[in-house]
Amino acid sequence: MIIICHYDEIALKGKNRNYFEKKLVENIDRRLVKEFGENKFWKVQKIAGRILVEIKKESKIEKEKLLILKEVFGIVNFSFAEESLQDIQELKKTCWNLLENKVFDNFRITASRADKNFSLNSEEINREIGAFVVEKNKAKVKLRDPQVECFVELANKRAFVYVDKIQGVGGLPVGSGGRCLALLSGGIDSPVAAYLTLKRGAKVDFVHFHSLPYTSTASNEKVLELTQELSKFQGKAKLFMVPFAKIQQQIVMQAPEKLRVVLYRRLMMKIAQEIARQNKVLALITGEVLSQVASQTLENIYVTNDAVKMPIFRPLIGFDKLEIMRKAQEIGTYETSILPHEDCCTRFIPKHPETKAKLEEVILAEDKLDVDGLINEAIVNMEIKVIK
Ligand code: ATP
Ligand code: MG
Repeated sequence: MIIICHYDEIALKGKNRNYFEKKLVENIDRRLVKEFGENKFWKVQKIAGRILVEIKKESKIEKEKLLILKEVFGIVNFSFAEESLQDIQELKKTCWNLLENKVFDNFRITASRADKNFSLNSEEINREIGAFVVEKNKAKVKLRDPQVECFVELANKRAFVYVDKIQGVGGLPVGSGGRCLALLSGGIDSPVAAYLTLKRGAKVDFVHFHSLPYTSTASNEKVLELTQELSKFQGKAKLFMVPFAKIQQQIVMQAPEKLRVVLYRRLMMKIAQEIARQNKVLALITGEVLSQVASQTLENIYVTNDAVKMPIFRPLIGFDKLEIMRKAQEIGTYETSILPHEDCCTRFIPKHPETKAKLEEVILAEDKLDVDGLINEAIVNMEIKVIK
């Protein structure tokens, strides 16, 4: 079985092109290993502006299973193709094999030649094969919006023919865009925020703040499960499990009640930034959405943001809850996200949390805490899990 994967030419142009392509080849291979094991009944290689995946017959891998290629970022579309000799008579036969069982009144042939030394140019190939199909089927050639389009690609002294294009997710190959650290809560939003970051090519590690022993281990397992679900998009990643109960106690004892949530958030950001620095990560990701809940008013986001120097990305800032839920279902994290869990922030939640926190007040309250000591202690006691 042969699959031709196409990526977005524009995004991959320039000096980095080779690097992007290499990453994409690696990522396709890794996704196949994850799904079908290490036995490598396949070969993935770049040929002339596309990626060729060849699956050996003895693998018994079914076509449907290969739709996982829809989950590899960087692939814009892919097609199951037939191979033919680089010979116009053979190409006619192969095209006709693909078309003869289809019902259509009009069609087009779309050839592209990476091998410029083939005796016919693309236009001539289109015309020759087109005339052959007209003779067989009486259908008309229609260049704009045809019912059926048959693609012919000549590359690396080989020829491939296919009819259907399957849409991929697009984006950029994971690993081509550096590394981010996502704050993962166990809710619906943050896994989607991590997914969107992965889609733009960055690898994502995760940090979760828990209040063990006051919250249950089930909540931690849920977060672990979410990171495993996301790992199909990127392979290996780290999950930092940070104990947060002591910090919350200190905040509850020493700060005004209504500022608790923003102070939790600031401390989370500071710890996340420290972990990021230690791991050469350059940005933080959250699932915050403008005005979705009390802690996410613009004023509170401003105060939270002030806690760190590192960029904080909020890929969901303009999403509605329904759109996020739909996306979570599509990427497969929704079912896990809606399992009941206790977020550490719901402990000691004030009756009237501040919705318009003022930076000066928050900083005054924070100065009463031994912030550096608390951060260091949390980091020393955190647990690191490797997700495969
Ligand atoms: P989510 O669905 O991601 O839980 P949410 O709508 O519940 O988001 P909040 O609880 O206000 O919103 O959290 C906002 C963001 O802060 C989360 O998306 C996440 O990135 C981060 N966050 C909140 N709680 C935690 C936690 N316990 N550990 C790590 N990150 C957290
Ligand atoms: Mg939450």
